[in-house]
Amino acid sequence: MAKVLTVGEILVEIVATTKGDGFREAQPLIGPFPSGAPAIFIDQVGKLGTPCAILGRIGDDDFGQLNLDRLRADGVDVSGVEIAPGESTGSAFVRYREDGSRVFVFNIANAACGTLPATPHGRAVMDGCTHMHVMGTALAAPGLAARAMEAIEVIRKNGGTLSFDPNLRPEILNTPGLREALDNVLEQTDLFLPSGDEIFLFTEAQTEAEAAAELLERGVRDIVIKRGADGASHFNAGGRTDAAAIAVEELDPTGAGDCFGGAFVSFWLNGADPATALTHANAAGARAVTRLGPMEGTSTRAELATLLATTETA
Ligand code: ADP
Repeated sequence: MAKVLTVGEILVEIVATTKGDGFREAQPLIGPFPSGAPAIFIDQVGKLGTPCAILGRIGDDDFGQLNLDRLRADGVDVSGVEIAPGESTGSAFVRYREDGSRVFVFNIANAACGTLPATPHGRAVMDGCTHMHVMGTALAAPGLAARAMEAIEVIRKNGGTLSFDPNLRPEILNTPGLREALDNVLEQTDLFLPSGDEIFLFTEAQTEAEAAAELLERGVRDIVIKRGADGASHFNAGGRTDAAAIAVEELDPTGAGDCFGGAFVSFWLNGADPATALTHANAAGARAVTRLGPMEGTSTRAELATLLATTETA
């Protein structure tokens, strides 16, 4: 069975519970919740019973321990998580605007998660995996990008597969070197999972269908476009499959795309047909938005089955 690897930030997140123009207005704040896009993704993979591991770095503090405990409990191999003495675990604060958009304050670059030195042990963890999931956020942190690229190279050399979620937050878009790294990763990608308009950062095409056709031509095997409450579409050589989102009440959108990705990758690696993988990924994304806290809405198979049996599409 495939073993999934991801590389990147492991954080705690503090979440505003009311909307407001600033953090002082959006009170009370609650948390800390385990977080970090790669951590949420891999937690979802682990919860579905697919073997998986994460390479990252945390401080020798309660925040790091909170993440280790959660990831371990959900079946993630955390032997590649380095504990940095004297450094702090990364953090993020999030509040919501009236229009539903989010404002983040991140402490990543100067926290333990901002770097990940090469080690023989990290290399051994890479060698033990057969699929790599790349998050754009890991490519945007200069101290992490080299490890992500090393992992891609190792997995590729060992005959493994690659999935890629650009996950491009506006504040990282101008990171020096990011553009080249994104293009380089896309050229090696088997399964591409952009959200909203992200696909248009990689092609001059005017429509989603044309963009997908071009990327398939360029060698990507499967493409899944996520569209929040408007569902998702899958494209491959066999054609196009659309799936409506599942009708739920959105409480907290953070982590939806990571949960969707974790579920899609698990089903894809296990040979599910596109419609089955899309349906379960939609359910994972939908369940994620019904829970406050980014990693609180990761799902087991039984939880996905219950949601699918009891809800309608939007
Ligand atoms: P990202 O977090 O990467 O921007 P999206 O917001 O597109 O990703 O959400 C990923 C997936 O989660 C969607 O394709 C959909 O399946 C599900 N999802 C997100 N928001 C909702 C919602 N409000 N209702 C139902 N499903 C949702």
